[in-house]
Amino acid sequence: MRFSCNRCNRTWPDHPVTRVPCPTCQAPAGRWCRRPSGHRAADLHVDRERAALAAGVLEMCEGPKRVNRAIGPMLR
Ligand SMILES: [Zn+2]
Ligand SMILES: [Zn+2]
Repeated sequence: MRFSCNRCNRTWPDHPVTRVPCPTCQAPAGRWCRRPSGHRAADLHVDRERAALAAGVLEMCEGPKRVNRAIGPMLR
């Protein structure tokens, strides 16, 4: 499953944020975030996004600056 940044159109073979474990829901690297119920979460947790940035697996998006988010490769 490929992911793409909706700001700069960069694509990844997997979501870069999933390369680090999630500090919020304890999902291991390579697995999508999960809800307390155990179902797949609709979105990755924000703290995981920050952890990916800190680990260097996620770069700041270089796309259009008009979008207010600091981090690019989320899906919306
Ligand atoms: Zn981007
Ligand atoms: Zn999570």
